Amino acid sequence: MTLVAGASTLLTPQAAEAAIDDQLPGLPIEARPLSQCVGGTLRENIYAERDYPPFDRVCMDGVAIDSAASRRGVRRYAVQATQAAGVPPMTLANAESAIEVMTGASLPRGADCVIPLEQYVLADGFVSLTAPVNDTPFRNIQRRGEDGRYGILMLEAGTLLGAPEIAIAASAGLARVRVSSQPAFMVISTGDELVEPGEPIAGHQIRRSNTYAVIAAMRARGFDRVSNDHLLDDETMLTDRLSLHLATHEALILSGGVSMGRFDLVPKVLKSLGVREVFHRVAQRPGKPMWFGVGPRGQAVFGLPGNPVSTLICLVRFVIPAIVSAMGTRRTPIERIGLARPVTFDLPLAYFLPVAVELDEWGQPWASPRPTNTSGDFLSLIGSDGFIELPPGPMAYPKGFVAPLYRW
Ligand code: AMP
Ligand code: MG
Repeated sequence: MTLVAGASTLLTPQAAEAAIDDQLPGLPIEARPLSQCVGGTLRENIYAERDYPPFDRVCMDGVAIDSAASRRGVRRYAVQATQAAGVPPMTLANAESAIEVMTGASLPRGADCVIPLEQYVLADGFVSLTAPVNDTPFRNIQRRGEDGRYGILMLEAGTLLGAPEIAIAASAGLARVRVSSQPAFMVISTGDELVEPGEPIAGHQIRRSNTYAVIAAMRARGFDRVSNDHLLDDETMLTDRLSLHLATHEALILSGGVSMGRFDLVPKVLKSLGVREVFHRVAQRPGKPMWFGVGPRGQAVFGLPGNPVSTLICLVRFVIPAIVSAMGTRRTPIERIGLARPVTFDLPLAYFLPVAVELDEWGQPWASPRPTNTSGDFLSLIGSDGFIELPPGPMAYPKGFVAPLYRW
C-alpha cells in the first residue's frame, strides 16, 4: 500500500520515519572478535564473570602489615617476602612481619593494611615506619566486590560499544561478543549530468558530490560495508544495475531521479523490479520528493532527492536513524537547541534549517541559522554543524525557539 496520494495528504517527517521503522526488520546478529566491535551494537546482555575487583587488591606500592600491630605501637617489621601482582596471596608469618607488595597484588593473608613506600625506610631486611602512618584497616586496599558483584548485569543488549564498554566485555572474559551485522549498503547516484571528481568536466556538467557526502556520513558513523555506483537516467541501465544491486545488498541509497521530471525514472524502475513503494514525498523542505520502498527480500530502498542539501538532510534525518534502530541500538534522546535569532518560514512544510552551533558568553549552545539559497546551495553548509527541524509554517519562530538538532 502506498501511504501517499496527492500533495494534500503528504506525510509529515514523523509519519515518514514511523513508516520506515515499521518496514525495516531487525538486522541479523553475528559473533565478532572483541577487537572488531567498537561502534557496533551489542545484541546480548553481559554479566559479571567475577566480583570486581575479584580479590582484595593492593592499590599502592609499599608493605602489607597487620594494622592492629601498628596501632599497638610496633614501628619496625621484618620483611618476610615480596609479592608482585599476579602471584597468589602469601601469608604473613606474624604480627611483626611485613610483606612487600606492588600495586595490583592480592592482599597477603593476615595483612589488612598497606603502608606506602614514602612512609618507611627499608634497611637490612627491616622496614621502619618514619612519619605517623595511617593504619586504619584496609587502608590502600580496594576490597573484593566493592565495584560490582559476580553476576550483575553490566551491559544490556542495545548498548553502543565504545571504549569503556569494550573494556567491560573484555573483563567479563569474552573473546567474542554478539553484535548486529552491518548491512551491505549500495550508494547510487543517478543523472546524465554527473561527472566523477578527477575527470575532465564540461560547462554544462556537475560534479558527482552526493555519493561522497553520503559515504562520508556513513563512514563517520562506523558503517564500513558501503559500495557505490553511478547510473545514467536510462531505463535499461537503471533496470539492469538496480536489479543486480538489489540481489547483493541489504540497503540501497539512491540520490536523484525521484522528482517529477521526464527523466526521473527511479520510482518507476524500482516498482518494475518488485520494490514496493511505502511512500513518495514528505511534507518537508528541503527533500519533499523523497521516496522509500521495500524490496522483495526486505531490502530497504531510499530514493533521496538529488539536490545536495536535500540528499544530506534526508540521509541524516531518515536513513541513518532507521538503520541505527534496525540494528537494535537503544535510542538516545534527540538533542534539542534554541534558535539564536528569529526565523520566519511561509510554507505548510516542516522546515529543515542548517545551523551552526555557537556558544554564548556563558557557554550555552545556540543554533545560529545558516539558510541556503536553494537546496542545491551546499556552499552555505560550510561551517554548519547540522540542521534543526522546525514545525510547519507559516510561522515566525522567535529567538529561543527550541527544536531538535541533527548533526551532520
Ligand atoms: P534530481 O533529483 O535528479 O532532479 O537532481 C536535482 C539536482 O541535484 C540536479 O541539479 C542535479 O544535477 C543535482 N544532483 C543530482 N545528483 C547529484 C549528485 N550525485 N551530486 C551532485 N549533484 C547532484
Ligand atoms: Mg537527475
